Amino acid sequence: MSKPITLLTVEATEQLSPGMVRIRFSGDLAAFADSAFTDRYVKLVFGDPAELETGGRPTLRTYTVIAPDVARGTLAIDFVVHGDQGVAGPWAARARPGDTIHVRGPGGAYAPDPAADWHLLAGDEAAIPAIRQALAALPDDAQGYAVIQVDGPVHEQPVATPAGVALTWLHRADPAQPGLADAVRALPWREGRVHAFVHGEGQAVMKDIRPYLYVERGVPRADVSISAYWKQGRTEETFREWKAELARTEEGTS
Ligand SMILES: Cc1cc2nc3c(=O)[nH]c(=O)nc-3n(C[C@H](O)[C@H](O)[C@H](O)COP(=O)(O)OP(=O)(O)OC[C@H]3O[C@@H](n4cnc5c(N)ncnc54)[C@H](O)[C@@H]3O)c2cc1C
Repeated sequence: MSKPITLLTVEATEQLSPGMVRIRFSGDLAAFADSAFTDRYVKLVFGDPAELETGGRPTLRTYTVIAPDVARGTLAIDFVVHGDQGVAGPWAARARPGDTIHVRGPGGAYAPDPAADWHLLAGDEAAIPAIRQALAALPDDAQGYAVIQVDGPVHEQPVATPAGVALTWLHRADPAQPGLADAVRALPWREGRVHAFVHGEGQAVMKDIRPYLYVERGVPRADVSISAYWKQGRTEETFREWKAELARTEEGTS
């Protein structure tokens, strides 16, 4: 059965950083009543949502849903505004109260396991909403690391962590700083069972960090939530082709 479609109305917008805008929406959020995943996401539908039922192909873009409140009928989405290219980023930059958009979902697959010995959360701007929600769901005595890459210091945002979770901000504009993958590799590996959440740009996440966790560290796949949220130089459509190609290559080599 296909996922429900919800009509959302923009209530307010807020600039969180020079490159990120929060949009608060209202709507009938019945579809969100049972979603307990901290990475819950929806597909924004740019076009006629009726086409989804009739085999049409409206443009879809995927975004993490923040704090859906079913009783109040409110939720928020934090959008990376990455220039004039694309559909969702420019839409978010222009959005005004009263604008509407349909979303399909929610989906989701991860919430931090409180029984894990430690947690590893890593990603870039696009993953900040999901990482922030995961950190908020951790028990007070949780241990681990959060590593987030942004363009520079002005792009950092408030992210609360339990005392035992060390948060590192990386600045990609600073050539002296490591990239996301090297920073993750440099973290002192801890004893015990790790639960990992790693999402962001495809190359760093899928080609660099994923083999490090699975092959070099031997982390079981069930203990890792990892995926590309976007791909440098590709729109979401051609990025899906890249993901399919990656999956085919891996089937051929496993
Ligand atoms: C499960 C999931 C959850 C996600 N949650 C969020 C979220 O909460 N907030 C969020 O902002 N994004 C999130 N993303 C990423 C988002 O779906 C992509 O960034 C998407 O490509 C944006 O669509 P667009 O129409 O703006 O750009 P597209 O049309 O897809 O791409 C246009 C150009 O912009 C570039 N581009 C796309 N995204 C970025 C970026 N983040 N930084 C720099 N350049 C980029 C592309 O490489 C391309 O060159 C999530 C993705 C997934 C799979």
